[in-house]
Amino acid sequence: MADMYETIAWGKKSKDSKFGLMQIERNLPGVDDVTFDLKFCGICHSDVHIANDDMGITNFPVVPGHELAGVVTAVGSNVTKFKLGDKVGVGCISDSCMKCSSCNQGFEQACHGGMTITTDSKIKHGHIKTNSGYTYGGFSGSQTVNQRYLIRIPNEYPLELAGPVFCSALTMYSPLCQWKANGGGMTVGVIGIGGLGQMGIQLAKAMGNQVTAISTTPAKKPVALEIGADMFIVSSDDAQMVSEANTLDLILNTVSANHQIEHYLPLLRRNGVIVQLGLAFEKHNISQIPLIMKRLIIAGGGIGGIPETQECMDFCAKNKIFSKIKMVKASELDEVFATLVKKNDQVIRYVLDIEGSK
Ligand SMILES: [Zn+2]
Ligand SMILES: [Zn+2]
Repeated sequence: MADMYETIAWGKKSKDSKFGLMQIERNLPGVDDVTFDLKFCGICHSDVHIANDDMGITNFPVVPGHELAGVVTAVGSNVTKFKLGDKVGVGCISDSCMKCSSCNQGFEQACHGGMTITTDSKIKHGHIKTNSGYTYGGFSGSQTVNQRYLIRIPNEYPLELAGPVFCSALTMYSPLCQWKANGGGMTVGVIGIGGLGQMGIQLAKAMGNQVTAISTTPAKKPVALEIGADMFIVSSDDAQMVSEANTLDLILNTVSANHQIEHYLPLLRRNGVIVQLGLAFEKHNISQIPLIMKRLIIAGGGIGGIPETQECMDFCAKNKIFSKIKMVKASELDEVFATLVKKNDQVIRYVLDIEGSK
């Protein structure tokens, strides 16, 4: 097609195939678009679900990756916020209707017409295009998006560390702001010390809160304390769960394995809030009594919209909040994905080195 260009990508042709190098087509930048060369892309556990077709809805060939970081190479004539050479990134959201009330208020993730996710989402709003009709993610040489979905990466922030900010940090930043921990002075618990949890601890601490890390794995205590937790609770230790009862104002629950929320409710103070952020599929069976007695709130949360993503990026830069990462090459993707299938609670975030993989 005339308005398209070819670029390289690393993707899978089918559920059972290995990762391989492929050519894909993306749209050339229109007047409101920005094209950037990808340098790095974070690898998130949801990429594993998509690449392995765990939900049975993946469209192949699929190119994962929704933690994109790179450098601007072309801008459309209406683009004023970005120029050639700028450090930029894209997170989970690549397109939305741009006209519903959610979009208008900067909550594109809740677009009434459905946001277009950066990986394997049907193209429907028309501001982004590919040759397959489904979005290709960031395991690729280049990307084009409407300037609205582009995040500016502050110059001083290392480009290889920026991708995880758009997914794991944002998923923690958004509920911390929603439940007013961004003003500091609260006691915040973070359950699960993995990719999300490590960002949650650092963000909650930088906002001025007292932070408690909660994990089933006692071995995570040193790293939790090192990144800023004031306190560590082993959630399978009944005595400790009892002694720490009624101590937390807010709990960010990142556990994505099946679990029962009721187990954690005693940790909350009166009026406390627990926010469910992991994708656990089994239903919870809870008694209303603690909710009534302590006026507790069970909430949900996830990524924020574009304005909040930029805020989160700027907050991480200002407060020097970084993910612990391990850089990998495209030739290692099969191995990394196999590791992630086995273990979902690593403190290390893998990041694909795109330049180094070419
Ligand atoms: Zn993610
Ligand atoms: Zn919308």
